[in-house]
This record gives sequence, structure tokens and C-alpha cells, in this order.
Amino acid sequence: MDSAPYTSTLAQALAPDLLSRFDRYVRIDTQSRRDRTGSPSTPGQLDLGRVLVAECNDAGLQDVGLDEHGYVTATLPATNGSGPVIGLIAHLDTSPDAPGAGVQPIVHRAYDGGVLALPRQGTRLDPASMPELVAKRGHDLVTSSGDTLLGADDKAGVAAIMAAVAHLAAHPELPRPTLRIAFTPDEEIGEGATLFDLERFGAVCAYTIDGSELGELQDETFTACETIVTVDGVDVHPGQATGKLVNALRLAARIVAALPSDTLTPETTSGREGFIHPYELVGTPARAQIRLIVRDFEEDRLEQHLARLERTAREVVAAEPRARLELDVHRQYRNMRRYVDAAPQVMQAAEAAIRAEGIEPLRRPIRGGTDGSRLSEMGLPTPNIFTGGHEYHSVREWASVQDMAAAAATVVRLAEVWTRVGEVGSGT
Ligand SMILES: [Zn+2]
Repeated sequence: MDSAPYTSTLAQALAPDLLSRFDRYVRIDTQSRRDRTGSPSTPGQLDLGRVLVAECNDAGLQDVGLDEHGYVTATLPATNGSGPVIGLIAHLDTSPDAPGAGVQPIVHRAYDGGVLALPRQGTRLDPASMPELVAKRGHDLVTSSGDTLLGADDKAGVAAIMAAVAHLAAHPELPRPTLRIAFTPDEEIGEGATLFDLERFGAVCAYTIDGSELGELQDETFTACETIVTVDGVDVHPGQATGKLVNALRLAARIVAALPSDTLTPETTSGREGFIHPYELVGTPARAQIRLIVRDFEEDRLEQHLARLERTAREVVAAEPRARLELDVHRQYRNMRRYVDAAPQVMQAAEAAIRAEGIEPLRRPIRGGTDGSRLSEMGLPTPNIFTGGHEYHSVREWASVQDMAAAAATVVRLAEVWTRVGEVGSGT
């Protein structure tokens, strides 16, 4: 079977460079670690950062640097010297949720539409349970060897940006605004925006290249809170516990059991529905702690979920007057829509770029957050563009070479669109 056609001759021309970069990046272990004590959380991210600094210099970019917190930044100046400064962002780290060391990528040329059996751990990519695969018949697919994640999240985004800016730098006849590039550490643990120096970055808007399916363009993320529920009991030696012991662990388990389970959970919701998701329960009879994430796209519905969680916990613990309950809620990030809506040309330019690549933009909300969630709230409107990667945070992660190349080509076209942004979105 012949390989599937590329979305454009530009994408086809970018593909070999993109793939060789991607292959280099994924072999570097950049898995981030929760509860970090410094930035970045792991030294491997600096290793990739140094590789990217060298590649940015090789490509002829300016102001190339890796700062002490692990952020790589670089500039590609405009061809005509004026116009807005546009940001391009991808993250260096990979998820802590699947093994990330020793990634050995495999390129499966001209995928035949069947089951892909990977060499290690019996990992299989089966189109019966992975419907996105069906549409990729004929594509060149990249997977891990089956025992690690691949790291297309977000090295597909890093490679797309690098291939695009290297191409633009080598082709000064292609019009472009000033592009500011940032590769961020620790996105997967929610810290990518934390030490991001917005002022030094100096862009009016930016795009994360950190989506998935071909054509995706996202200006909505969850609004997100984390809640820690702590129950204090009364611990007594079980031999002398009659009438005295108050078991905090049992109470915590009862709280979890009392939460909705056939609705408002990640596994029973989709689209624009939110959820309450307990993801950790640790405890002893003396003290137990439940960690939950609460998510929705709408602020008022998020408040309702939080109220429901609190009511449930209070009702359960009220049955035992000697127990103590504490709820600690903190905001993680907000739906970026309101901030991106305030600058409509940002989405219009991205839609125009995706259409210029011959793709119909797929507008769907992200059931999660990106660096752009917090950057948008901090004042840098930052929607998210597809990368061509799938099944993130798992050993079944895969990416289409054709779709990754389409992402790189979209970035090249986005640069061109921004040089005539006055024409973008006539009517605003
Ligand atoms: Zn990502």
C-alpha cells in the first residue's frame, strides 16, 4: 500500500526534517515529577532544552536562551521588520502517568488499517477500540516499542515548531511577523506557566501546539479546582477500642462511596460535562485524606460540583460527632475562552492558517488544561493547535507523520496570515 497523501506539498517537504527532530527528542527522558522542589522538576528536561538551544542556533534564530528555570526561548525576526509579535509554545516534559525513560520510537510506514502489535509487553493498537486509527490507513505512524509512552505529547508540538521556524528562517521570501518561541518545562504537572516571563516573551498572543487530531483548534479548557478532604478520627488500640475508636479511614471511604458514580465522573461524562474525580485516598484510623479534582467548562456549574462535594462530606462526617472534617479547595486554572474571545483575530488567524493547509478546523473544547489556560488568564491569549498525536499518557501513544507535518505546515501558514492580519476576520 502506498503512503497516504500529505495535506500539502509544504507538509510533505517539512516531513523528513520534522520526523528526524521528533525521533531525537522522544529518546530524551523528559518525564516531569509531581510535587517538584525546583524548576524543572527533572534534569532530563534541561537535556532536551540544550539540544533545542543548539538547533535554534543552527537554524539561525536570535536571542536563543535556556533560562535557569528550564524555559527555552528564541526569536525569528519579521521579514518586513514590523507587525505584531506572535508566540509559539510547546512543552518539553512528558507525563508522569506512564513510563517515560528509554523511548525507542518505531515508524510503521503506510499503516494497513489493522492491529499494530508492538514488540514489548504485548501492547497492541487495535482500531476496534481506537477509532481514530481507522482514518489513518496509509499514514506513516510512529509508536513506542510498547513499554513506554511515545512523547508525542508534546514533542510532536516541539518538532512542528522547530521544523516550521527552521523552514521560515531558510526561506526569507516567505512573509512572517516576528515569532517568539518558548518551550516550557513541567506542563504535565500544571506548572508550565508558573515561571513563564510574559514581559520578556513580549508577544501579543501565542499558540500552544499541544492538541491531538488533525485540524483541532481549541479555545476552551476546563475550569479546574483541586480539593483535599481531610478527616480526623480518634485512634485507639483496637483491643481497647470499644466505644472509643473513630476510624477516619472508614469515614473517608464512605465519602468516596457517597459521591455520584453513574454521573459526574470522568468515565460517565463527555463533551461539555464536568465531573468530581477522587484520585487518591490515603489514611489511617487517625487521619485520612482524599484528593479530588473538580472540573467543568462553566464557572457556576463548577461551583455546584464543589458545593455537592462539600455537602456530601459534611453529611457523612456529621454522623460521627467526634470526627473532624476539613476541606481545602484551590483553583488550578480557568477556561481560557473568555480571555481568547476578547481578541477574536487570534482564533481567526488560526482558522485561516488551518484552512490554508486544506483542513477544516475542528473546534472542540479540551477536557483538560494547557499552558494556554493560565497564560491566557495572565494576559497572553493562547489557544491550542493540533499536533497529530493520539492516546496520550499511555504506552499506546501514537502519532501520524502526515498529520505532524500538517501541524508544521499550519505554523508556516499562520506566520503568513499574521502579516496581513488586517484582513483576518473582516467584520470585527
Ligand atoms: Zn501536552
